[in-house]
Amino acid sequence: AGTLYVVATPIGNLEDISARALRVLREVALIAAEDTRHSARLMSHFGIATPLAACHEHNERDEGGRFLERLQAGDDIALISDAGTPLISDPGYHLVRQARAAGIRVVPVPGACALIAALSAAGLPSDRFIFEGFLPAKTAGRRARLELLREEPRTLIFYEAPHRILECVEDLEAIFGADRSAVLCRELTKTFETLKGLPLGQLRTWIASDSNQQRGECVLLVAGWQAPEDDQAISAEVLRVLDLLLGELP
Ligand code: SAM
Repeated sequence: AGTLYVVATPIGNLEDISARALRVLREVALIAAEDTRHSARLMSHFGIATPLAACHEHNERDEGGRFLERLQAGDDIALISDAGTPLISDPGYHLVRQARAAGIRVVPVPGACALIAALSAAGLPSDRFIFEGFLPAKTAGRRARLELLREEPRTLIFYEAPHRILECVEDLEAIFGADRSAVLCRELTKTFETLKGLPLGQLRTWIASDSNQQRGECVLLVAGWQAPEDDQAISAEVLRVLDLLLGELP
């Protein structure tokens, strides 16, 4: 049987594709792409003539069988999305799952991923983090989701559409408070790349006052929740009282 390669492509700067990714894309029998017209431009830039076939969220489940047949017949296939790593807020999950269930070898060819690029340069704690993908598009749903994350101690990472960035930051401020640190990472690897770290309240004002900040692609990082000093003071007090009581034990 053939191999299914899951290949990352650039998120902006076309230099961000590995030598291995280019070789695999050149050598496979077929490239399964989220949008064949979009990827045709990328392939022509690199002089790659491998045939492209559509594998997007609407046909992925049904058409997966077609790709599986090709794989079982011995053809190698590369799975790509429009930008970055497939399956990360992008199609590919069903195909990968079906291929693995069928005993097909699935090989990652790693590369650009917006959330990792953002985390690597944001300067927020990176030892533990959670990726929340896209928040619900409407305020009520978004706030409900954020409520569940209010006391999340790990760094939070969100993808957001540019036309929703301001309302999203407003909701983050409403739930997490104006003082919580955040970093907006916009247009990563592109000409107008901007990383701005500010407490949520100030970040909201900054975005509101500059419409350029409401354009392009963005990743939003929010520092995890930290127990307020007061809570620690209470537990210290509890410990002191316990200590006194222990001293009274016979
Ligand atoms: N699979 C991609 C990855 O590996 O990052 C993500 C695809 S998702 C449909 C697109 C979202 O990723 C955008 O709305 C934005 O939140 C984020 N994104 C992609 N490219 C970006 C870039 N160059 N700068 C900032 N954010 C980016």
